[in-house]
Amino acid sequence: MLTNHLFTITTPLYYVNDRPHLGSCYTTIACDAISRFKRLEGKEVIFITGVDEHGQKIQRTAESNSISAEEHCNNISSKYSELWNTLNITYDRFVRTTDANHQNVVNQFFNNVKKSGDIYMGNQKGWYCVGCEEFKDISENTERPQCDIHKKDLEWRNEENLFFRLSKYQTKIEQLVTSNDFIHPISRRNEIIKFVSKGLKDFSISRVNVTWGLPVPGYDGHTFYVWFDALLGYLTATLNNGGEYKLEQLERSGWPADLHVIGKDILRFHAIYWPAMCMSAGIDIPTRIYGHGFLTREGNKMGKSLGNVLNPLTLYELVGIDPIRWYLLRDINFGFDGDFQNKRFIDLINNDLANTIGNLLNRTITMSRKWFNNKVPIVTVNGNELIKSKSVHTINIVRKELDRYNFLKASEGIIELAKQSNIYLNDNAPWVAIKNDENYDEVSACIYDVLESTRIIGILLQPLLPNLSSIMLKQLSYSPEKVWANDLVWGKLEQDIELPTPKPIINRLDTNIEI
Ligand SMILES: [Zn+2]
Repeated sequence: MLTNHLFTITTPLYYVNDRPHLGSCYTTIACDAISRFKRLEGKEVIFITGVDEHGQKIQRTAESNSISAEEHCNNISSKYSELWNTLNITYDRFVRTTDANHQNVVNQFFNNVKKSGDIYMGNQKGWYCVGCEEFKDISENTERPQCDIHKKDLEWRNEENLFFRLSKYQTKIEQLVTSNDFIHPISRRNEIIKFVSKGLKDFSISRVNVTWGLPVPGYDGHTFYVWFDALLGYLTATLNNGGEYKLEQLERSGWPADLHVIGKDILRFHAIYWPAMCMSAGIDIPTRIYGHGFLTREGNKMGKSLGNVLNPLTLYELVGIDPIRWYLLRDINFGFDGDFQNKRFIDLINNDLANTIGNLLNRTITMSRKWFNNKVPIVTVNGNELIKSKSVHTINIVRKELDRYNFLKASEGIIELAKQSNIYLNDNAPWVAIKNDENYDEVSACIYDVLESTRIIGILLQPLLPNLSSIMLKQLSYSPEKVWANDLVWGKLEQDIELPTPKPIINRLDTNIEI
């Protein structure tokens, strides 16, 4: 049953024209961090991802590779699911729009929309880009117009298509997009408000002569426009819970989605077309749309023709998962554009993870083992309040920032606590104090406090760097509970327990490494 404990989040359904790139990896890792955070906060999460597989573009790509569209989709879809498994993404559902159940959902949805009187047959004339799968607003008399995005000739189309009465939803969509909660971040909201204020036009939802698509029931020769079909993939995935694929079951299956995370290029489809389609079909609209920015590389757009595309799998094989996650979440301001820079990547991993956090953990455990019989010290006097209060403060900051999907601020907070803890050690110099027996109790308290702040850092890193967090906590002989509120309490590290020999938590990256 739907409860407020449930949180449904989606990545876009990635278009299988090509194998996954760093951009899709970024979106998915961000959704994974949000999902992990929500689970740690006690929510039951439905994390949906998948692929969008229809359309003329796929058909043509397959033809040019001399394979069937089906074979092409199978190949690329498995590249996605394999990558998410390799990267330890905790998705719950992986939907393919070629699933038989999806067609069933699309047909039900279409019938609802038709019953609402929102479908009519019309003539669609105009310049079409197959790459965008979109008609362009360009005059008929233009000679050989090109797509701005794809730099390819547009094709003239003049065909009978089924249309969706988007114009009917003008007022409702206007109200929706101007509300505070629907579109994030705010800068993107303004783009959409502007677009809607110009007046919404009906759009065609079927194509003729495109065989690689779902047939429209009752209209021979028509297949669904790829976007109409793809957006419904979210519903199919939500219904994939062992029951029947009936739209009436949506509400009890976790719909509406609490959060659609998408790239800014597909915001219009999600923030305008999609809610209007849901309204027409009598389905709840998603709660929030988050449009994140684009990734460039060393200041340049990444693209096949430029030969500078970063293959996430190659990067993973080179550096492992923690550096990739840390860089994407820590360096890019979620919601805004980001630039991947080789040097910055190496510096961040080495400074933050190897030096600041890694050294803190390593030297504190080493001292504790050396002076306290390989154990966490027993504390008999109160330590300095400083590290305790900084830790508690950091817990609040990190939870607040993660709740706003501000990974950058959350990571900064964690690093700040690690830096403060290092400073605290340096200022107290327990390696000097321990030489005098009288200081034994104070040194015990000092070491315990830093071990404890390090444990809190390890806990706070769980949604961002699950792998590194688990390595850290093992070295502290600490097993986290499932809901982190129980772990995020000062003083949970048991005294007088064995600490294993510390090992570096991450390999330093060679500064000459070429990514
Ligand atoms: Zn185009």
